[in-house]
Amino acid sequence: MNVYDKYETVIGLECHIQLLTKTKMYSSDVAEYGALPNTNVSVVTLGHPGTLPVVNKRAIEFAVKLGIAVNANIREENQFARKNYFYADLPKGYQITQDKTPICTGGYITAKMKDRELRVNLTRIHMEEDAGKSLHDIDPFETLVDLNRAGTPLLEIVTEPDIRSGEEAYAYLTEVRKLVRYLDICDGNMEEGSLRCDANISVMLKGSKVFGKKVEVKNMNSFRNVQRAIDFEIKRQIDLVEQGKEIAGETRSFDAVNGSTFSMRSKESANDYRYFPEPDLQPVFITQEYINKIKEKLPVLPDQLFSLYTKEYKLSEYDALQLIDRKEVAAYFNDLVKHTNNQKSAANWVMGPVKAYLNERALTITEFTLPSQKIAEIISLIDAGKVSNSAASQKLFPALVEQPQKNAEQLAGELDLLQNSNSNELQGLVDQALAKFPEKITEYKNGKVTLLGMFVGEVMKLSKGKADPKLLNQLVKETLEK
Ligand code: ADP
Ligand code: MG
Repeated sequence: MNVYDKYETVIGLECHIQLLTKTKMYSSDVAEYGALPNTNVSVVTLGHPGTLPVVNKRAIEFAVKLGIAVNANIREENQFARKNYFYADLPKGYQITQDKTPICTGGYITAKMKDRELRVNLTRIHMEEDAGKSLHDIDPFETLVDLNRAGTPLLEIVTEPDIRSGEEAYAYLTEVRKLVRYLDICDGNMEEGSLRCDANISVMLKGSKVFGKKVEVKNMNSFRNVQRAIDFEIKRQIDLVEQGKEIAGETRSFDAVNGSTFSMRSKESANDYRYFPEPDLQPVFITQEYINKIKEKLPVLPDQLFSLYTKEYKLSEYDALQLIDRKEVAAYFNDLVKHTNNQKSAANWVMGPVKAYLNERALTITEFTLPSQKIAEIISLIDAGKVSNSAASQKLFPALVEQPQKNAEQLAGELDLLQNSNSNELQGLVDQALAKFPEKITEYKNGKVTLLGMFVGEVMKLSKGKADPKLLNQLVKETLEK
């Protein structure tokens, strides 16, 4: 047995999501990414003496939205706390966060893995503010500080130690990102830092009831890197245990170039944050009435779409997941199925020709100008046998994108794509084609059935490619077997 198989990995993730509020968590300073450095910084952000924080209502609403979506308990009385530490990007010298009274506790997020469903229970979600940004790579000699980010609203989502592999962590994070995007509370952009994740990782012998000592890994800027960091860490820790060495409780950083982790600080030197209740903020009370109001306005969530697509529309799980992956794509599809009952075909069109068209032009579906109703028109032409699938996707569709004001059937006519589905006429062509190959017909009748394709091809040529392939196949077969 492989030594690595003797061990089980335990992982808990802490994700920070940056909220899409217009202003900061405790001030009216603008919260936006990419502004000129140090322009969105009033005296509150700068922590000048005598300034007072005010809680951002919208941030509370977003926290409640997320709490409802993950089935968490939402706390009635929310207090804020000061987390004290000294750093150049933290002008106040403390961060206002929630310590003992996180706005959400419990709840869970499910993710679909290849062969099963993964459920990750949540410990808590709390509100806090971000620090500024230290820039170490702009000036060769100095570290620069941009305080625009200081005070930006964050939610921290902490999981139970329920995750067992890098792959599961990846699946969970993908689900978190999808969810916050559907809820419209965070853009989920890990590269821009609006979704960040720290991973706590430990290993123990399989079947053990006692968790090993955990190591926290930071600084991973993509989901793939979270998975890589975890996979590296699992191996490193098992190797240490196998050598009879102790795992040091420490914080490590991920080096994306080498795919390895290195020690940043040990837990012994960990900060004592001296948490205490924030004296400048009153507790915020969240009533059941308020929660209900938000519940009513909650958008349709990916899980609900998944069951609609698989159970009602009978799409495969794979197709359903593809459509749901991006909220905007799902919205287009939802719009399309208002105009057609052929949901399977609608799914194929969105993930096939439409997606290919957008990919080729590096466009997103929100930039796609063809109304979904036009796709529905194409689908009904195909279903009525008036246009072949290939003519529709290769010719009619691109033409319709150029001339969306036209009716699909009219345009198909102009492009001479309307196929001959009149069986009398088609029968004439079949007879005409077969008459050319008396010997081949004998061969066919003697068992060389692979000749069917050749006959069909001949008739198709005669019809100038406009015969309905299904009907044609059937007619040729019937004629041959007469
Ligand atoms: P700390 O006090 O060090 O911040 P917490 O108990 O708050 O630790 O847990 C932080 C995260 O680490 C949570 O996501 C939790 O599920 C996870 N975690 C706790 N113990 C372990 C462990 N032994 N191995 C892996 N993850 C763990
Ligand atoms: Mg903790």
